[in-house]
Amino acid sequence: MTFSAVIVAAGSGTRAGPGQAKQWRLLAGKPVLRWSAEALLAGGAQKLVIVAESQAQPLLDAALNGLAGWTTTPGGATRALSVQAGLAALADRPADEPVLIHDAARPFLGAATIQAVLKALEVADGAIPGLPVADTLKSGALESNVVTKPRTDLWRAQTPQAFRRDRLLAAYAAWAGPDEPTDDGQVVERHGGRVVVTPGDPMLMKLTYPEDFAMAEKLGAETLAGRARITRMGQGFDAHRWGPGESVWLCGVEIAHDETLIGHSDADAGLHALTDAILGAIGEGDIGDHFPPTDPQWKGAASDRFLAHAVDLVRRRGGTLVNVDVTLICERPKIKPHRAAMRERLAQILDLPLDRVSVKATTTEGMGFTGRGEGLAAQAIAVVETPA
Ligand code: MG
Repeated sequence: MTFSAVIVAAGSGTRAGPGQAKQWRLLAGKPVLRWSAEALLAGGAQKLVIVAESQAQPLLDAALNGLAGWTTTPGGATRALSVQAGLAALADRPADEPVLIHDAARPFLGAATIQAVLKALEVADGAIPGLPVADTLKSGALESNVVTKPRTDLWRAQTPQAFRRDRLLAAYAAWAGPDEPTDDGQVVERHGGRVVVTPGDPMLMKLTYPEDFAMAEKLGAETLAGRARITRMGQGFDAHRWGPGESVWLCGVEIAHDETLIGHSDADAGLHALTDAILGAIGEGDIGDHFPPTDPQWKGAASDRFLAHAVDLVRRRGGTLVNVDVTLICERPKIKPHRAAMRERLAQILDLPLDRVSVKATTTEGMGFTGRGEGLAAQAIAVVETPA
């Protein structure tokens, strides 16, 4: 049976804590949204629509980089409107084709759950994964008298929920409110449809609160741990010429000096060498490929963003940075008084513990271009671990 799918990723998810909306956050090295997008595509979705805010397009492109078979459409003011926008984007598919509606905040979607809802749709108007309620249920306000409620036939509804697309569209068109539906099964139920429960999956937990991420991180790490990992190493080298100036940027730290390094960006040779080392470890070319010096937007740019971009590329392929080692080569300025600050700044940009970040310095005893004070050179090594 062919099917299409919609992932609703338009929410801001403020309950999950400050920072990026939860669908864009990394979970065991992979954006939350990508986990379920990969699962639906691997499960056989012929077309996948991601409903996301238009301004999130760069985040979406980055999160699903390299995946084929998906498209995107802007969301509406409510979840219900977002789902309908997703359904509208499937107009080129057969009208009665099964469609799976999934919440982006449930990353660990397995093939068995997808197969179960599709199978149940053969004899029902809707199929939803559900988990039996295990806890005893109480009703009443906090710190007041409560009464116990029966739980025998209660289910916790999960996603993806499956429907024939024309059936779901008709049900949404007939929804009169005044309440907002909290899932799609409810819309079809109220329209007189027969919605059945299929076995849910405890792994399909919804990421709602900050503590959910900590638990999901472990689950994700275990999922990924089942796959082989390899260690990769990359090296980088950079040099810049001295010119008139009053300070110099090295390894993300500004040092007062009677000269500066000349370059298109801030000319931080330490960060440039390290960025190239990380890009080299994952076969991603060099810094010039990602930030062309001919592009005026990088003129005078702070180089920490180049480094952060390289680390992001590592994480997007499920990799982790193991350690880095940078050597600065110059006669002046003296590096030693600034080494601690440089290590701390690098550890901050790379999100690594301090003992995995090394900054060293050497002179060339007056020999060569660094010895003559014509320029400063830097070299770096980075070790990265990625899925094989
Ligand atoms: Mg450079």
